[in-house]
Amino acid sequence: MNPLKILIVEDEHKLAQVLQQGLKEQGFVVEWADDGALGLDMALEGSFDAVILDVMLPGMNGFEVLSELRKSGSTLPVIMLTARNNVDDRVRGLDHGADDYLAKPFDFKELLARLRAILRRPKTELRTTLRVAGLTMNLKSREVRRDGKFIDLTPKEFGILEYLLSRKGLVLTKAMIMDHVWPSDADCQGSSNLVEVYVNHLRKKVDQDHAVKLIQTVRGSGYIIQDQT
Ligand code: CA
Repeated sequence: MNPLKILIVEDEHKLAQVLQQGLKEQGFVVEWADDGALGLDMALEGSFDAVILDVMLPGMNGFEVLSELRKSGSTLPVIMLTARNNVDDRVRGLDHGADDYLAKPFDFKELLARLRAILRRPKTELRTTLRVAGLTMNLKSREVRRDGKFIDLTPKEFGILEYLLSRKGLVLTKAMIMDHVWPSDADCQGSSNLVEVYVNHLRKKVDQDHAVKLIQTVRGSGYIIQDQT
């Protein structure tokens, strides 16, 4: 069996060195990136089995790295290192698709245990296409089609549709869509009209020319996308 390959994305050289050394002693092959953008490139290109990803990184932070990684369709297991025992950071990490998190400072033995646990999990099927009825969204090429016909979406419309499709059959409230698509835009918080406007645009593009309407309004609650049966 080939040794398992771990990527460490951490800008604190001392900690990165300790981790590298410790993991090598455990028989892992280890590579290290000391900034977010480099880490993302390596995670996308290298054949790693897991990533240990720090949140506080220069340039591109750990959440951004993780969210780009997941957008590209990667299901690579990721453990996030949060700076302190910060619940928001943990929730944010898990929301962005982290598999586990560890608050600094941590015990190396604990990291090892978490790492082994996520490596034991069965590899999730690599999901690159989301679909409902005749609507398909390719997460790699970012192409959206309905019955084979290309639909041109803005990045925000794409984000909303991706969120709806990834939770097909579930009602998403305007607040959930707001948090998901405009996460750091404090000015827009609370403006549910904005969500309405965007969903209406999206609806025109996706449903207008079709008898079957895929995006449904759940009055007083939010929106849902589902197969019409
Ligand atoms: Ca750091």
